[in-house]
Amino acid sequence: MALSTLFALVVSLTPDPAQAQDTVVPVVIRDVTVISATGAPPAPGMTVVLGGGRIQSVTPARQARLPRGARLVDGRGKFLIPGLWDMHTHLANRPLFPGADRAVGFERNRDYTFSLLLAAGVTGVRDMAGDLAVLARWRDEVARGAVLGPRLVITGKKLGKNPVVPGAPYPIASDADVRRSVELLQQGGADFVKVDGLPGRYFYLLFQAANAAGLDVVGHSTLDLGVVEAARMGQRSLEHLDGVVLACASEESGIRADAVAEGGWWRRLLTRIGLSDPEENFRDRYRRMLASQQDAKTDSVIATLRQHETWQVPTLVLLRDIRLLPPSAALAEALAAYATPDGGEPPPDIRWAGDTALPHALYRRELAVLGGMIRAGVPIMAGTDGPGGTRLPGVALQDELELLVTAGMTPLEALQAATREPARFLGLLDSLGTVEAGKVADLVLLDADPLADIGNVRRVSGVARAGRWLDGAALEGLRARARAVSR
Ligand SMILES: [Zn+2]
Repeated sequence: MALSTLFALVVSLTPDPAQAQDTVVPVVIRDVTVISATGAPPAPGMTVVLGGGRIQSVTPARQARLPRGARLVDGRGKFLIPGLWDMHTHLANRPLFPGADRAVGFERNRDYTFSLLLAAGVTGVRDMAGDLAVLARWRDEVARGAVLGPRLVITGKKLGKNPVVPGAPYPIASDADVRRSVELLQQGGADFVKVDGLPGRYFYLLFQAANAAGLDVVGHSTLDLGVVEAARMGQRSLEHLDGVVLACASEESGIRADAVAEGGWWRRLLTRIGLSDPEENFRDRYRRMLASQQDAKTDSVIATLRQHETWQVPTLVLLRDIRLLPPSAALAEALAAYATPDGGEPPPDIRWAGDTALPHALYRRELAVLGGMIRAGVPIMAGTDGPGGTRLPGVALQDELELLVTAGMTPLEALQAATREPARFLGLLDSLGTVEAGKVADLVLLDADPLADIGNVRRVSGVARAGRWLDGAALEGLRARARAVSR
């Protein structure tokens, strides 16, 4: 295909600014089955009118009043759901594609990830660590309609693993460092503080500082504090089920102490003289953890998470990668089509030493504990931790919804984990997350019923982003843009 033809196909992510939100033509989706995600049963034969970036009305087809000059979308045989959220991404961690300078590299990240996300019906993301200045600019450009992309909520870099912004204190060595980091995050426009690897002794102060700054703390658990304590202190979301299976083990405290000792000078000395093997110790801790899982402790951990409303973003597609399991056929096919910088391969984890039995057993246990959380009503959201490994933007979220069903959700609950629940978590349920009149028109039109088979979320026919309609050709244009950027 000639380059000019390719670019003609490619949808611009930077529409004419004169084409502001209120001048987007009204859209009428006629005779569609609405799956509102409120929990109400599917409503067939509905007409949905979009205008001014909002859902103007959702009414039985015969009662609908159609605005003049509206664009008509035939909804017969199709299903309308709210726009999806990926609640754990890293869109601007580092330039994904080599060769370019940093600024150009981030623009390529933006074009690649935004295109793939929108094409898969992902109209919102929570970015969980990246270049805060870049992310804040994208968030604001998208919000004012200068760039077509998913709505963004953002954190800075992980507090405990990096300087949260360039020039921030690192490593964290005092209370003042914690306070300064939170202050810099707030000044930089972060929506959350993401914590990972911060020593437990700073946690109390972290929550105080974050509270004072009006920011919630989200992220990982910390080895010397544990999941239950983090939940009690008010951590708002926990990612990747980090530390959860450990907390369900009767040998939890011994294993945690051993893992902490692994980083100490004594163990390093033993390793140097050949008396300790860190990889074998790693596997041994996991064996002990899986061998000492306890029902009573599991129930108590789940009850604590439920009681404190500690939101879980299990990122099963990430866990599947690092536990050495393959992606779905659909995701594998998409990975081949949109050359990713790492070829879609998760980095090999030498610590498993080719022993797949142990990581697979761990993954099964993680799914089982998540199943217990689902039954107990722990709040759960869909996220991918992409891009990276097999976590292709957008497409990996479709796998994630399938895995949430495998873990025990109904298809409706899985849809809600990517729609209503993120809106509820973000305090935006009055304007987002369901298909109801008055809400922002972020919507996905599907060719087949996702409640019959959650895999049907892959059959995207059209997407509305703040009322702007992207039909099949526009979605294909977005995919073409992602392919072009990745070459
Ligand atoms: Zn992450």
